[in-house]
Amino acid sequence: MAKKRNNSSEGDNCSFCGSPRYEAKMTFSGLDGDTNICDKCVNRGYHVLNEAEINNKKSKKPKKIKIAELLKPKEIKDFLDQYVIGQDSAKKYMSVAVYNHYKRLMHSEESDNKIEIDKSNIIMVGETGTGKTLLARTIAKLLHVPFTIVDATVLTQAGYVGEDVEGILSRLLQVANYDVALAERGIIFIDEIDKIARKGDNPSITKDVSGEGVQQALLKILEGTVVNVAPEGGRKHPDQKFVQVNTSNILFICGGAFDGVQKKITQRMNTHAVGYGQLNKQRVDTENIMQYILPQDLKSFGLIPELIGRLPVLTYLEPLNKDALRSILTEPKNAIIKQYHRLFELDNIDLNFKEEVLDYIVDKAMEYKLGARGLRSICESIMIDIMFELPSKDSVKSFDVTIEYAKEKIEKAKLSQLAK
Ligand code: ADP
Repeated sequence: MAKKRNNSSEGDNCSFCGSPRYEAKMTFSGLDGDTNICDKCVNRGYHVLNEAEINNKKSKKPKKIKIAELLKPKEIKDFLDQYVIGQDSAKKYMSVAVYNHYKRLMHSEESDNKIEIDKSNIIMVGETGTGKTLLARTIAKLLHVPFTIVDATVLTQAGYVGEDVEGILSRLLQVANYDVALAERGIIFIDEIDKIARKGDNPSITKDVSGEGVQQALLKILEGTVVNVAPEGGRKHPDQKFVQVNTSNILFICGGAFDGVQKKITQRMNTHAVGYGQLNKQRVDTENIMQYILPQDLKSFGLIPELIGRLPVLTYLEPLNKDALRSILTEPKNAIIKQYHRLFELDNIDLNFKEEVLDYIVDKAMEYKLGARGLRSICESIMIDIMFELPSKDSVKSFDVTIEYAKEKIEKAKLSQLAK
């Protein structure tokens, strides 16, 4: 199809809607030269075709899940172990939740079931950079159902600037390739759920656009309801066609850092100890307070009780200590150091990191409180010059990253700036 030159004679009108060429942003002409179509009609046609495709998929039944084909919780955890260091509790809960989700789906397909199996949505609590998103992304690799990650920070109550809570479902629908039945059995990971906590303990008189209102909207979806979803996402507009998605069988996994919740846990434990005297006094691991988290601490933090009630599985991620950071550098399947080795291998260069360099990288990450996320930025500061120079030096076949070299690069990079 060729784009026609701009002139506004009668014959140039859109052959479908009749609009004159000068009103269209773009007009396409058929090979015969007499038939035209304007951009608006092309767009309308695109939406009609899309809807037809969605309706066609809606009528199809998803493939039955067979228990024999499923990985057992232990196998799921073994898989997670290859990518995520430590975090055994969260891994265990995730593996069981995913396995039970499949079983629940199988069970609901049976016509003679007398017992209803409840959904076990999960909430994972742990400092930023401890592996919550990594866990979710890793588990997604072996799922038999559609999976999507959404960020709670962009969500707002319907009608406000930002993304409506229903938008979460558009994403799932897109991942399921607009197959509604498939999306209805998917898993959604909602990251940064703590960012929609109510600000302050008292329900505000003024509207809390990004807090409680969003929690209420989310609650409905978590409970299980039929939602009108705009298949292509974005804000709703009057002539948009919706697809109905039932959320009863969608599993929700939420994650958040809940920065400051440690204080609430400690407060609760102290009051508890006073109330029950010496009886309940037990050794408390102050390095990892998060392990003692209870649903009421989430309430003190600002989640509404109804929402907490819909997230019955509560698990935590441990802060990463020196040993964990050291393992993260070299052990996971996609470990940062393995990635650098591979990058240089592609240039036929044999890279060698001295042990003390790896310890030094970890020390710096600890010193600047950068956590696991900081490991990569530290490595980048050390590696940038050789990644720039060595590919042009044909004579160089190997490179030793020594402690002197690493220290020099880090000092030059003024890494302390990163920590700020
Ligand atoms: P969170 O979602 O908890 O804020 P992420 O999962 O995004 O943290 O972690 C950031 C990065 O740090 C990951 O991409 C990964 O490279 C590394 N990382 C964090 N925790 C772990 C872990 N337990 N095992 C392996 N790598 C980790």
